[in-house]
Amino acid sequence: MSELLVLIDHSEGEPRKLSLQMLTAATEIAGETGDTVAAVWLGPGASGAADTLGAHGAAKLYHWDSEDAQGYVTLPQVEALEQVFEQSGASTLFFASGNHIKDVAARLAIRIDAGVITDCTGLEVVDGAISATKEVFGGDLVTKARVAEGKKGFFGISPNAFAAEESGGGAPETVALDVSLSESATAAKVTDVEIQTSGDRPDIGEAAIVVAGGRGLGDEKGFELMEQLADAIGAGVGASRAATDAGWYPHRFQIGQTGRTIAPMLYIGSGISGAIQHRAGMQTSQNIVAINKDPEAPIFQIADFGIVGDLYNVVPKLVEELQSRAG
Ligand SMILES: Cc1cc2nc3c(=O)[nH]c(=O)nc-3n(C[C@H](O)[C@H](O)[C@H](O)COP(=O)(O)OP(=O)(O)OC[C@H]3O[C@@H](n4cnc5c(N)ncnc54)[C@H](O)[C@@H]3O)c2cc1C
Repeated sequence: MSELLVLIDHSEGEPRKLSLQMLTAATEIAGETGDTVAAVWLGPGASGAADTLGAHGAAKLYHWDSEDAQGYVTLPQVEALEQVFEQSGASTLFFASGNHIKDVAARLAIRIDAGVITDCTGLEVVDGAISATKEVFGGDLVTKARVAEGKKGFFGISPNAFAAEESGGGAPETVALDVSLSESATAAKVTDVEIQTSGDRPDIGEAAIVVAGGRGLGDEKGFELMEQLADAIGAGVGASRAATDAGWYPHRFQIGQTGRTIAPMLYIGSGISGAIQHRAGMQTSQNIVAINKDPEAPIFQIADFGIVGDLYNVVPKLVEELQSRAG
């Protein structure tokens, strides 16, 4: 029996939703392999989150209560995780498939001889090994991938690929890490952090519903309509690159190959053609609704529901209907 490690992505003392989804996924895998699940929390704040992590399946919690975890670039987290692997004898790590943690995972993999599979949208146990589902070429192909035998396996999990569920576990056993960093780990210091918020709306990477607007909006005022729609259903707002390049909405909300990857339960795209680079960032959404006046727009090929029409006719009616139901 071994431990399946889940690296907890957290903000302001709270585990992000994806971390609880990963714990749930790991708990399901552990149910088949006979392993146990251990959460790894790097940085201050673990004690306040222990019960939540336990409730979602963590039997153990490795924590490193040091500002150094976030105070330097990448390497302190690599070295702390290396220590967890040494201490636990584990051979599996689940991590949130974001850019920063992918960097951590890649560097750690080189050090401890692991294979890394990023952006996993499904996990199953096949012949005793973890097999990951991964969508490639902008979601046109679904692949199954496994780490080569004998190597440790790191799996980067996409947001919303799994539902977070409590499994009834109690508070986990806690193990404090005593990490002594190498000189090179502290060579690049983080001097300032600016947290970019989405205001009162949920972050598009975590939101269950994302409303996205493209060039078809015509101008930046069109995003006021997108925000009205989003606020009527508690959604985050995203944009195509054409819209962000035009300066209609900030770049941090761009969805796609060179923007954010999202996988909400519901994506509603208005005035977006569905170029492959955009699809690369949203194709794994569970339900896709497209509003476009061109019936030949490629987005309709992947849409579950399509509305052919002028978005300025369709969306205001949708907002009105949703607001009347909410009221
Ligand atoms: C290397 C590279 C990386 C890229 N990365 C990204 C990326 O990360 N994300 C991304 O989005 N793009 C990316 N792109 C750009 C991508 O190729 C497309 O150009 C872009 O996605 C188009 O955005 P759009 O769908 O908003 O605009 P368009 O393709 O111009 O589509 C606008 C759509 O709006 C419809 N429309 C117009 N008016 C209305 C109306 N009144 N009502 C309803 N529908 C209307 C039109 O029929 C059309 O289908 C990348 C390109 C390259 C080369």
